Amino acid sequence: MKPIQMVDLNGQYQNIKAEIDQAITDCLNEAAFINGPQVKQFQQNLASYLAVNHVITCGNGTDALQIAMMALNLKPGDEVIVPAFTYVATAEVIALLGLTPVMVEVDPHTFNITAEIIEKAITPNSKAVVPVHLFGQCCDMEPIMEMARKYNLYVIEDTAQALGAKYTFSDGSVKSAGTIGDIGCTSFFPSKNLGCYGDGGAIMTNNEELGVKLQKIANHGQAKKYYHEMVGVNSRLDTLQAAILIIKLKKLDEYAASRNAVAEKYDQAFASIEGVTIPKRQSNSTHVFHQYTLKLEGIEREGLKKHLEAGGIPAMIYYPLPLHKQEAFKSDRYNEGDFPVSEALCSQVLSLPMHTEMEDDQLNYITSQLLAYVATVKQYV
Ligand SMILES: *Cc1c(COP(=O)(O)O)cnc(C)c1O
Repeated sequence: MKPIQMVDLNGQYQNIKAEIDQAITDCLNEAAFINGPQVKQFQQNLASYLAVNHVITCGNGTDALQIAMMALNLKPGDEVIVPAFTYVATAEVIALLGLTPVMVEVDPHTFNITAEIIEKAITPNSKAVVPVHLFGQCCDMEPIMEMARKYNLYVIEDTAQALGAKYTFSDGSVKSAGTIGDIGCTSFFPSKNLGCYGDGGAIMTNNEELGVKLQKIANHGQAKKYYHEMVGVNSRLDTLQAAILIIKLKKLDEYAASRNAVAEKYDQAFASIEGVTIPKRQSNSTHVFHQYTLKLEGIEREGLKKHLEAGGIPAMIYYPLPLHKQEAFKSDRYNEGDFPVSEALCSQVLSLPMHTEMEDDQLNYITSQLLAYVATVKQYV
């Protein structure tokens, strides 16, 4: 059996090596390292894959979120609603721009925020909300969009973990994660579902005016070289990374299918075990399984994690601390116990190895090791 990894980046590369190596060699020969033709090509390919009007590539997913926030004319004191249970980047850029991140609870089954939860946090200062499609499944976007329209909130989707996931509206129409709100933001960090071989990110929108503005902000606030209409940033996707992403985008649906196959095997093995909850699937969203995350109740997480690791199986805790308990976001606004679901999840979740090159013997070994641990601890209770 091959050694088990959380994400097998090299295994994936080996299967597309000839094409990738050729694309990199072409880039080296062309030497258009910044804004080469591959960047535009990838933007077009991603826009047509997602069926969205504008895709603007940038340096990473955190930059994507920052540029999105900068495009909305928000002013200090404006509030942006974010989940308490997410990766820090979502809230970080809001604080960095002098805006106020307002954390909210998440749903205990999907780990995502809902329209109901958001509505409770709305004040006259609320200007925007960031639904994070955590672990690869869409937030329930239809009610979120209705609620946002009612209160005049911008919706910025953080789809760093859910690129390729699809959401079905009640009228049967289907949209890709990241193309439902006013702006969508994603990351091409190597371990993301569409990962490059370094840093990368993108912003998408169907709004023409925002599309033009986002492009300017990402490029020093200029549309014409050396004429700066606004204060922007320098955030670019390298040509080399774009060339790699052109190849990997063609594989994205196939990769999602491989991840789903792994998830189904895990589901079958763990569905009926007391104390272990498998990830809930929503009927109106596909799941692209950026992470396969179990919820443990009555089974000691550290013990299980150590047991798996001793057997050569990595397992990760995404995330160990909710945002409102992070030192960086300490505020009088929040107290311990404010978000009991988010706080409980931080001590219950465990993510298992999940990638596109998982082999059957690896999967069988992982499930049998986990089941063996659960059986042993149950003997003593
Ligand atoms: C990875 C990630 C980001 C940030 O992406 P980077 O490319 O690492 O800056 C933002 N939000 C979420 C939910 C993420 O998972």
